[in-house]
Amino acid sequence: MELIRMQNPIAELDGDEMTRIVWKQIKEELLLPFLELKTEYYDLGLENREKTGDQVTIEASEAIKRLGVGVKCATITPNAQRMKEYGLTRMWKSPNGTIRFILDGTVFRKPILVPGIAPLVSNWKKPITIARHAFGDIYRSAEYMADRPGHAELSYNDQNGETVFTANIAELSEGDVIMGQFNTERSIRSFAESCFRYAVNEREDLWFSAKDTISKIYDQRFRDIFEELYETGYRKEFERLGIKYRYMLIDSAAAGIMRSEGGMIWACKNYDGDVMSDLISAAFGSIAMMSSVLVSPDGKYEYEAAHGTVTDLYYRYKNGEKVSVNPTAMIFAWTGALAKRGELDGSRELSGFAERLESACIDTIASGIVTGDLAPLCGRKPVDTMTFLSAVRKRMEG
Ligand code: NAP
Ligand code: MG
Repeated sequence: MELIRMQNPIAELDGDEMTRIVWKQIKEELLLPFLELKTEYYDLGLENREKTGDQVTIEASEAIKRLGVGVKCATITPNAQRMKEYGLTRMWKSPNGTIRFILDGTVFRKPILVPGIAPLVSNWKKPITIARHAFGDIYRSAEYMADRPGHAELSYNDQNGETVFTANIAELSEGDVIMGQFNTERSIRSFAESCFRYAVNEREDLWFSAKDTISKIYDQRFRDIFEELYETGYRKEFERLGIKYRYMLIDSAAAGIMRSEGGMIWACKNYDGDVMSDLISAAFGSIAMMSSVLVSPDGKYEYEAAHGTVTDLYYRYKNGEKVSVNPTAMIFAWTGALAKRGELDGSRELSGFAERLESACIDTIASGIVTGDLAPLCGRKPVDTMTFLSAVRKRMEG
């Protein structure tokens, strides 16, 4: 069989533990037999991050910027226990955080739907994608618990130290709490830009929700920036594609999502997105059926699975057990990246391959060949990862 050719490479970011093992198996079973795979390889495994002083993460991010497309395996974010386990000299930062910082992107999480594995919400027929604005608000706030009665106010000093604004907050007693939060126009704009861009890419409606009826300056600012960008940069394109942009109050958006059949992108502020992305992924079944893509405001794409390195199964695998890790979201990270490469290079062949691989994967699951996480959701016996991958390969060959 003739291998499908790639014109330009994608950045490949390898990772840790169980997902590192499955990463290799996916390449060997599902990519290399069909594709003349071209990648720039960066080893983001924790050992190599330690060896390179985390320089490899920065180089990999630059490569995604340069090549326009990347695919990433899950990686360990070190904590105190990992420091000991891997003998680290420093508690290296989360690779995803570093990549997001360099690309200035927004993460979109989208469930992968399979016939026979029904979402908990019975009227959801299409995926619901969550876009979380992962910057600022309570995640970068200043907080204080009063230890005596007093007065709290919000004040703003200009560069010369002159107070140009003060507002009364409350009279407090001992044990009361206050918080100050912020966001930046630059970050909100880049979030909005990524959301509109992704909606055009996916040809899906975009909802943005906040609480501007209560927060008449802070949340209103988000709403205004989204609306301005829509009017000046995206309305024509949306109308041409027949998709819609809607602003909604967060509570009414939540109710609207529950009653909808899905098929939209829901852009959320930081905290809302934190909560809603876990709620949506749980309602769609398994974290291993959740794909994730980082989109930068200037149109660079990095694809990955939403789950982590599956540590518990890795230890069982190391003990010689056959484990049942679901590789679907990782396969979709590859197909997402390859389809995008195909689109950018004008290669129907490559995009077509990505589509066929996605269908083979979905059809395999729909036929009842499933891993441990999905087995209880469809009343089947689970198979191990390699059996699942071979079944997908058979479909690709058949
Ligand atoms: P996790 O690796 O996502 O695993 C959590 C649980 O979800 C697993 O114990 C397993 O449940 C289930 N699961 C996740 N992926 C699965 C798959 N593909 N197939 C079957 N079951 C799957 O999260 P974690 O245990 O919290 O984190 C482990 C490591 O991953 C940490 O070091 C963390 O830093 C890292 N992490 C990386 C990323 C990333 O790179 N994007 C994201 C999150 C976490 P059962 O217990 O039922 O088997
Ligand atoms: Mg969370």
